[in-house]
Amino acid sequence: MTEQKTYHMSAADFRRHGRAAVDWIADYYEQIESLPVQSQVAPGQIRAGLPPHPPPAGEAFEDILQDVTNLILPGVTHWQSPNFFAFFPANTSGPAILGDLLSSGLGVQGMLWATSPACTELETHVMDWVVEMLGLPAKFLSSSAGGGVIQDSASSAALCALLAARERATNFASNEQGNDGRLVAYTSTQAHSSIEKAVKIAGIGRQNLRLIEVDENFGMRPDLLARQIEEDRQGGLTPFFVVATVGTTSSNGLDPLTEIGEICTVNNIWLHVDGAMAGTAALCPEYRWIHDGLETADSYCFNPHKWMFTNFDCDCFYVADRNILIQTLSILPEYLRNQATESGAVIDYRDWNIPLGRRFRALKLWFVIRHYGIEGLQYHIRRHVELAREFAAWIEKDDRFEMVVLPPLNLVCFRHRGGDDINQNLMDRLNRGGDLYLTHTMMHDRLTLRLCVGQTHTRRRHVVDAWRKIQEAAGELEK
Ligand code: PLP
Repeated sequence: MTEQKTYHMSAADFRRHGRAAVDWIADYYEQIESLPVQSQVAPGQIRAGLPPHPPPAGEAFEDILQDVTNLILPGVTHWQSPNFFAFFPANTSGPAILGDLLSSGLGVQGMLWATSPACTELETHVMDWVVEMLGLPAKFLSSSAGGGVIQDSASSAALCALLAARERATNFASNEQGNDGRLVAYTSTQAHSSIEKAVKIAGIGRQNLRLIEVDENFGMRPDLLARQIEEDRQGGLTPFFVVATVGTTSSNGLDPLTEIGEICTVNNIWLHVDGAMAGTAALCPEYRWIHDGLETADSYCFNPHKWMFTNFDCDCFYVADRNILIQTLSILPEYLRNQATESGAVIDYRDWNIPLGRRFRALKLWFVIRHYGIEGLQYHIRRHVELAREFAAWIEKDDRFEMVVLPPLNLVCFRHRGGDDINQNLMDRLNRGGDLYLTHTMMHDRLTLRLCVGQTHTRRRHVVDAWRKIQEAAGELEK
């Protein structure tokens, strides 16, 4: 074998193909509105178009990119379409994509400070910026006993919070011996499924998760929480973990953090607050009330990868006491020992999350914050909330429809008065048509449509069009 032989892409080709790939993305964004928002393919259709076996010899980059257009794109649901109103957004933006590209280019693995100091220090710095930007409690700053870390998802953040809570409650005995089945966790009936998953993964047991009923606005009822905790204590169990949600997935319901926090403080229970989507609203001082009571929380998370224009994956997770988290997750095998760690002067983020390896995620968040500035981010968040409210006002003026709850922020939950079938048909018809994409939930046991305004490029004309299409489709179905 000669030394000269290589299959790698040369720097010159990388430049050329890299430009083509960036052009491809720019073209995609320019034409995205002409594509059906929800992919219209049948199950198996994408695989059927792909060669059954891998290529024995390498192929031209141009051909690969062409196949993305021809074979892959039809099977893509366009989350970045301004007509995407489904679920919660998973939005992105130019600076985020480019920041992520640089992260891929650098290709560092930031498990330890020593394996790439900038990866750790930029992360700490940006996480401190975010505390300031959202007006979060100072105890989440790295200069306090707490601090922040970027997780891949709110699910992982909840799991880390739960593990730390488990260890605090058992004085770290659970890590050594497993737990005795008496630990009990609490959240509302509206909490995200990731809480149940965390309870399963951490060995708490699903039967030891209490789902507390909510009030008419879908916020957890603190009186019922307090009663359940008391009952469990009387029964010889150990209440140890409460998750409150700021912006539930179904309806954007807001749990009353102040009352819940008081209950947790009195009972020495870890309070984790999940603000996955709605937390971003706190960029705007006028919406910071959503976090009233957060001062008592032991941990908090929100996802810039939902509504803060930063592509997946990017969850900001904060703890009030980093030592508990670190002691919960830390393992130091010989091969990771190094002077910087031993000096105690650095953060090693491997101890703050489940995986050992970590991507340089802080870059994309840093790019986003610097590109938009606080002012730019606030502008777009405000616009989204205003548009959702405008849409809600149109619903209220049309006798055929009703609002299910008043939208606190950017999610509108509404339905046609004609019952579940017409709502289901309305949604299916609209989504099949490809002009927009909405999803549903069940509220008060009735099928409810959800329209979430949070996509980076959604403007007023998209919301106006969505309402027009909804009205037209309703007219057709009423015939
Ligand atoms: N929490 C809430 C309130 C959510 O709405 C979601 C997802 O929509 C999650 C947690 C899970 O987020 P992730 O995909 O980051 O785990």
